[in-house]
Amino acid sequence: MARLAVYPGSFDPLTRGHLDIIHRACRLFDHVIVAVSNNAAKKHTFSVAERIAMTESAIRDLPNADVDTFSGLLVDYLREKKARVLIRGLRVVSDMDYEFQLASFNRRLYKEAETVFLMPDDQYTYLAASMVKEVARLGAPVDAFVTPQVARSLRRRFKLHKK
Ligand code: ADP
Repeated sequence: MARLAVYPGSFDPLTRGHLDIIHRACRLFDHVIVAVSNNAAKKHTFSVAERIAMTESAIRDLPNADVDTFSGLLVDYLREKKARVLIRGLRVVSDMDYEFQLASFNRRLYKEAETVFLMPDDQYTYLAASMVKEVARLGAPVDAFVTPQVARSLRRRFKLHKK
């Protein structure tokens, strides 16, 4: 049976840290679905369509990854896709609190699914989408942290907001 993994997140926007995790997951599993969450309760900078488009263009060169979106419970999405592996990225110890809580809840809701934590390359340890947006908002270049397309989208978004 093909080993399928789902990597869920907001990806608001996708960073090089997320991309590093996707590449690692693609080496470990036969197929990886990057699942962009469509959670109406969360306030996002980019719409779900924009987040999907940015992610799709960043993973175009990966033959065993694709992008999808989900709303509602992640475990329901996993069941629907018949996936039993959930990928999450761990950067620093402070991520663990939240990630362990999430993994433990997901395990209670769907005990057959396993959360697999992957560490990004050291250079991405302190990279967070929220920080990238803050830097972009203040007008600094973000090309080291995101793909060229995401950098362009950030510039456009924050220029519009400045008016
Ligand atoms: P969420 O809102 O679900 O936390 P994010 O898009 O912020 O979604 O993150 C998705 C996953 O990617 C999380 O497991 C997060 O810890 C991980 N992640 C975020 N940034 C990085 C990074 N720089 N390196 C590795 N993993 C990361």
